[in-house]
Amino acid sequence: MNNISKQQIEKAATLLNGSRNVLIITHYNPDGDAIGSSLGLYHFLKLIGKEPKVIVPNNYPQFLQWMPGNKEIIIAGEDKEQAEKIIQSAEAIVFLDFNVLDRTQGLEEEIINRDVPKLLIDHHPNPGNFADVIISNTKVSSTSELLFEFIARYKGEEIINRDISECLYTGIMTDTGSFSYNSSNPDTYYVVSKLINKGIDKTRIYWMVYDNYSVERMRLLGYCLNKKMKVFKEYRTAYISIKESELKKFNYQTGDTEGFVNYPLSIKNIIFSVIFIERKDHIKISFRSKGEFYANRFAINHFNGGGHKNAAGGYSESNLDETLQKFESLLPQYQSKLNKGG
Ligand code: 5GP
Ligand code: MN
Repeated sequence: MNNISKQQIEKAATLLNGSRNVLIITHYNPDGDAIGSSLGLYHFLKLIGKEPKVIVPNNYPQFLQWMPGNKEIIIAGEDKEQAEKIIQSAEAIVFLDFNVLDRTQGLEEEIINRDVPKLLIDHHPNPGNFADVIISNTKVSSTSELLFEFIARYKGEEIINRDISECLYTGIMTDTGSFSYNSSNPDTYYVVSKLINKGIDKTRIYWMVYDNYSVERMRLLGYCLNKKMKVFKEYRTAYISIKESELKKFNYQTGDTEGFVNYPLSIKNIIFSVIFIERKDHIKISFRSKGEFYANRFAINHFNGGGHKNAAGGYSESNLDETLQKFESLLPQYQSKLNKGG
C-alpha cells in the first residue's frame, strides 16, 4: 500500500493528534463508501481516545443503516441546529468521500467559517482547496480503501478491529459494485484480505446491502426496465427516466432507485447509461459508462455535475421532458467518442 505519501500521513497525524473533538462530514446523498468510511473512521478515532462525531447532509437508504455506529450519525437536514452546534464545537474536521464543498449541501458556510484544521480523504479527481491536509488518490477503489491505508500507516494494522473492518469493507464493496468495476488494482484485494482476517462476515454484508429490498422496489425496477428505458443503439447509450408520480405509485423510499442506472450497461454494446429522476425542484441525474467514455466530463459540461470517469452525477433545473430532449440532442456530438469507448 503506497497510495499516500509519507509526508501526507505525517501531516494528517499531526492534525488529528492535536484535537479531541473531531467532526467527520461526508457528502449529500451518502452512499456505501460515504457511510462506510465515516463510521470506519469514527470507530478508529474512538479507539485512540477522541470524541468523534459524524454528520451527513441528508438521510440515506435503509440498506446502509445497519453498520456498527449507525445510530451515532447526525442527519443535518433533519436536525440543522444540532449539526450547527457540533460544527461550532469541532476542533478538527475530516471530509470523507467528496472533494467539492457544495456536496455538503447547505453546510458550506458553517464549514468555511469554522476556523479549525481540516483534513480531506477522498478518491475523486480534481480536489478543491478547502482543506489544510489533502489525502487524495484516484487510483484506489474507494475512500474506505484509502482510509484503511491511512489508519494502518498511522497507528498500525493491529488497531483495526471488526467494527472498523465491517464499515470499510462495505465501502469497498459498494464503490466497486461488488468488485465488478474500479477493482482491477491488486492493492484492493490486499486490503480486503486484511479485512476478512479481522473476522467480518462478507456474505452477510452482501445480503444486508443487496438483498434487503422491498417488494415495491423490485416492481419499480421491473417497470423502469420494461416501460421507461430508451435505447439508442447508434450511440451505444440507454437511459431510464422516472416521474415523481411514478415513484409515488411504487411507494418510493430513499434509496429505492439506487443501482437502477447500472442495468442498461448489461445490454450488449451499451457503454453509456443514464437515469433521470424527477424530484420536487430539479431532475437528479446519474451517469455510468464503460471503458474510455468520460461520464464525468459529460456531467460537468452539460448537467452541473462531476464525479469519476465511469460514475458521475449531476442535476437539471429544467423539467423532465426538456431535460430528456437536451440529453438526446447532445448525443450526436458524442457519437465518435461513444463508438471509440467501451
Ligand atoms: P450517483 O450517480 O451515485 O449519485 O453519483 C455517482 C458519482 O457521481 C458520485 O460518487 C459522485 O462522485 C458524483 N456525483 C453525483 N452527483 C454529483 C453532483 O451533483 N456534483 C458532483 N460534483 N458530483 C456528483
Ligand atoms: Mn467513494
